Amino acid sequence: MGLEQDLQVRSGNRCELCTSTDSLSVLEVSPSDGSIDQSIYICSACKEQVEDKDKMDENHWHCLNESMWSEENAVKVVVYRMLSRLKNQELLDMLYLEDDIKAWAEMGLSAENKEPTRDANGTILQAGDSVSVIKDLVVKGAGFTAKQGTTVKNIHLVLGNCEQIEGRVNGTKIVLLSCYLKKL
Ligand SMILES: [Zn+2]
Repeated sequence: MGLEQDLQVRSGNRCELCTSTDSLSVLEVSPSDGSIDQSIYICSACKEQVEDKDKMDENHWHCLNESMWSEENAVKVVVYRMLSRLKNQELLDMLYLEDDIKAWAEMGLSAENKEPTRDANGTILQAGDSVSVIKDLVVKGAGFTAKQGTTVKNIHLVLGNCEQIEGRVNGTKIVLLSCYLKKL
């Protein structure tokens, strides 16, 4: 089964934040490895607001009173981030997260307030973009050079660092400076 099917089973085909059955889709809870443990299944209304903090509608988020008791860490991480945005300290105090899960939750919050990652032309790069290397880059520790013109598909952003991205070159996951890349 694929990730989406697995999440459908886990969630009972309901939004894991608000229990809506409307336009459900997968949200990878960044920074995510793409596994089910780091993804949640949510409705379009929740997703839009999770992804854009300027679209927050406080009335929508009474649902967090319930979803904060989820046993899924990925759900709790998103609940933590939403409660932080809403400055709902009362519920935050009641939400128990293991230390490593709390660190994960906070990574997302600090990323929200960071500068976007830009390529050599100033174009904003997003996770999943494909880029081209604009000059030969010696990859320290990997023992090869990423040649000018190399395409790097499906890049990942580096949280808290807008000058770097991660991607695979020659099958090796490496960090590249965004100023030497051009979005394709
Ligand atoms: Zn929802």
